[in-house]
Amino acid sequence: MANANLNTFGSSRRLLRSLRELMADEGDTQTRLDHMVSQIAREMVADVCSIYLRRSDGSMELCATEGLKSEAVHSTRMKDGEGLVGLVAESLEPISLSDAPHHKRFSYRPETGEDPYQSFLGVPMLRAGRLIGVLVVQNQAQRTYPEDEIDVLQTIATVLGEIVSATDLSSQLPDFEIKPSLPESMHGRTFAKGLAKGIALLHAPEVAATKLLSDDPEAEESRLKDGLRDLRNGLDKLLTGEANTLGAVSLEVLEMIALLAQDRNWEKRLVEGTRAGLTAEAAVEQVRSEHRARMMAAKDQYLRDRLHDLEELDNRLLRHLAGTDNLTQFIPEEAILVARDIGPAELLEYANTDLRAILLEEGTSSGHAAIIARAMGIPMIGQIRGLLARTEAGDRIIVDTNAGAAYLRYDPMVLEAFEARFRAQTAERVRVNALKDVASITRDGKAIKLMMNAGLVLDLENLDQSGAEGVGLFRTEFQFMVSNKLPRVDAQTTLYSTIVENAGDKPVTFRTLDLGGDKIARFMKGEREENPAMGWRALRLGLDKKGILIYQLRALLRATEDKHLRVMFPLVSIVSEFDEAKEILLKEVEWAKSQGRKPPKKLEIGAMVEAPSIAWSVSEIAKKADFLSVGTNDLMQFFFASDRGSTKLGERYDILSKPALSFLKFIKENAGDTPISVCGEHAGRPLEAMALIGIGFDILSMPPSGLSAVKEMILATEFRDLRNKIQNILAQDNCDIRNELRNFCETKGIIV
Ligand code: PEP
Ligand code: MG
Repeated sequence: MANANLNTFGSSRRLLRSLRELMADEGDTQTRLDHMVSQIAREMVADVCSIYLRRSDGSMELCATEGLKSEAVHSTRMKDGEGLVGLVAESLEPISLSDAPHHKRFSYRPETGEDPYQSFLGVPMLRAGRLIGVLVVQNQAQRTYPEDEIDVLQTIATVLGEIVSATDLSSQLPDFEIKPSLPESMHGRTFAKGLAKGIALLHAPEVAATKLLSDDPEAEESRLKDGLRDLRNGLDKLLTGEANTLGAVSLEVLEMIALLAQDRNWEKRLVEGTRAGLTAEAAVEQVRSEHRARMMAAKDQYLRDRLHDLEELDNRLLRHLAGTDNLTQFIPEEAILVARDIGPAELLEYANTDLRAILLEEGTSSGHAAIIARAMGIPMIGQIRGLLARTEAGDRIIVDTNAGAAYLRYDPMVLEAFEARFRAQTAERVRVNALKDVASITRDGKAIKLMMNAGLVLDLENLDQSGAEGVGLFRTEFQFMVSNKLPRVDAQTTLYSTIVENAGDKPVTFRTLDLGGDKIARFMKGEREENPAMGWRALRLGLDKKGILIYQLRALLRATEDKHLRVMFPLVSIVSEFDEAKEILLKEVEWAKSQGRKPPKKLEIGAMVEAPSIAWSVSEIAKKADFLSVGTNDLMQFFFASDRGSTKLGERYDILSKPALSFLKFIKENAGDTPISVCGEHAGRPLEAMALIGIGFDILSMPPSGLSAVKEMILATEFRDLRNKIQNILAQDNCDIRNELRNFCETKGIIV
């Protein structure tokens, strides 16, 4: 709005002032809406001003007008997507036309008497990114509305959106979709199991603008600029490593956000808001609403991601204006985190809060945030369509992952059912806990070793409780992801010593750094790869940046002097990579000895089978490794050529299928006598675990939350029966293996 003149700002301020007075009025809703449209028409020098509000069925109802026939009010309704009003609602952008009747979307409504009006300007009325209506001005003359007038009308629409949503008004408009208030249930896919009840916390936290209109625009502008300066300084501080902890986002995202924070257009839009008479907070909310609405409408994932980053920035700025930029400060008790998606580093920031569940509009079950949620024992449901649009901060929510459902603003009956289920679950937990000391053996005596996956010190608390025989996979990368510089050998040694100490007599398999893919750390900045999951990650990075690998191995050796050390290398793709890594480790053992340190009492070196290429070399690598572990999360993504993080592909391919199970059976058989486990997420799901046992795997490592259910399945299973069943299934074509196994369980009385 560089060409905006002071008159426009002056008139918009005048208008906002009178809207504020109207807001304070006692009158009924209709009278207030009528006053608003006539004031707006007068100040905007428009022949017509109309407010259309969105009804629950998506139609737009003319609710107040100055200039059109008054009989049309509450009788003219534009169907979802109909006419120019529908076009504004659809695009969520202002539509300005000098010759509206000739536009192809124009829908003629004789009852409104709109024949004489040629020009049309419609802007969306948004609240928290949700469309609640459309504000329209029309003129008889053919005119092109200048950009500054469009901006002013948008500002007015923002304020109107807030006024209409104010509780006393919205309660008088029950048929309209002002704010979701009715109970509703939303469904998605369960990523981490559990039952929970709590209060919606929107991620990142909403800092609502309590005051919309400013008394002193100059002072607001300078507050806004101070906020922007603090925001940029804060981000710089994080990036230059002055801050002790990493902020709300992983560093790569943080860098992107820091870059966006310098964006002059963003600043310009905000300054325009304050100059037009909004408070700094309301100006940010206006811009955030626009970002959010565009994000929800964007079909392109890349664009959605960028808009998501912008929204994160808006939220950060609001927190700065409120005088704090501490993400977790806003977390209420019994919080249910509601987000479009969340990164692993972000989720770790909530580790010490009273988080009861996580609901995501997107996300995937094998993504690292889901893995962390399972490790933390926090129920998580993802891929809930429309979640953000239907949830208000503070909504009461019940989460039931068995049904993959979130009940928003639930009614007493849902609460009653929840409480009954909760009591039953507690009783069930007591029963299952009693299993923890029971040996994991099938009915016909086949022992299946159950281990747990971990990545945080706090996970080790589950080791005894879960009854796991050890840690089959310790993911070491989380320490690297949450600190903003490469952890030093000392810090790594401390972590590994704590883990070994907490594990007591039980073995721990440490996997060396697996950064890359969706696990980004600070020192990895550089060119973004086209296919990071298949890029420079895991052992590839370790072999190229030997210093990082060597320091980690050194820390592992220091933490396990005279103790048992199991080291496993991730994403080995060719046998020579394993040879090279093993040689580095053995050299480190010699070096430690030369320094007077004790070598481990027992050293076992293993490789992960995650790349199909190594699966085909398994008999060769099995001769060189002390043990192997199949990482089905990665192996299946490469096997099916299906990104493990893709929401759209999540349901398409199934490990319980002939190609996948035959492949895994081949791997197991070719490993010979070398112990080989499965440590992907599938091992923790009873039905999948059952199939894995059926093809011969007898070591499974899984999130602790899956252990008791898998053990229960094992105790109820006759191994010989199962093996025959699987053989039989794999001999058939076009067999629905999931279904077959479910039926098998039903006839055998096995609970899965
Ligand atoms: C796997 O790929 O199955 C695995 C266990 O490793 P991560 O999930 O950490 O990639
Ligand atoms: Mg992996």
